[in-house]
Amino acid sequence: MGKGAGRRRANATTGRVCPCGSGRAYADCCAPAHAGDAPATAEALMRSRFSAFALGDSGYLLRSWHSSTRPAALELDPGQRWTRLEIVRTERGGLLDAAGTVSFHAHYRHGGRPGTVTEHSRFVREDGRWVYLDGDQP
Ligand SMILES: [Zn+2]
Repeated sequence: MGKGAGRRRANATTGRVCPCGSGRAYADCCAPAHAGDAPATAEALMRSRFSAFALGDSGYLLRSWHSSTRPAALELDPGQRWTRLEIVRTERGGLLDAAGTVSFHAHYRHGGRPGTVTEHSRFVREDGRWVYLDGDQP
């Protein structure tokens, strides 16, 4: 039997496609960030935050928010279902950068109606880890 054969897990959680739209399995994409790994780039952090919105993980959203702008609490609307992330543009935010911006459209459905949030998000490093600072919604 070849290496890896029969190892593919059919588990509903680890085998599902990541909500961030990378096309990869959740387990190989945003799950490590949600479990505590530091995403390498601002875009990866942005993706992991979108996935956290989609999965209702408000704890991760707070943990990945800069301490100076983080809200005291975050209540997610269970009626808002985040369906798709479209990254429009990424500036800096790479391995050697200390700051970066990611522009995106985040698509959702609420009460059966589709909607979109467009934002230019700013990310910085805090204690070496990428975090969300703030964003402008044009
Ligand atoms: Zn992902």
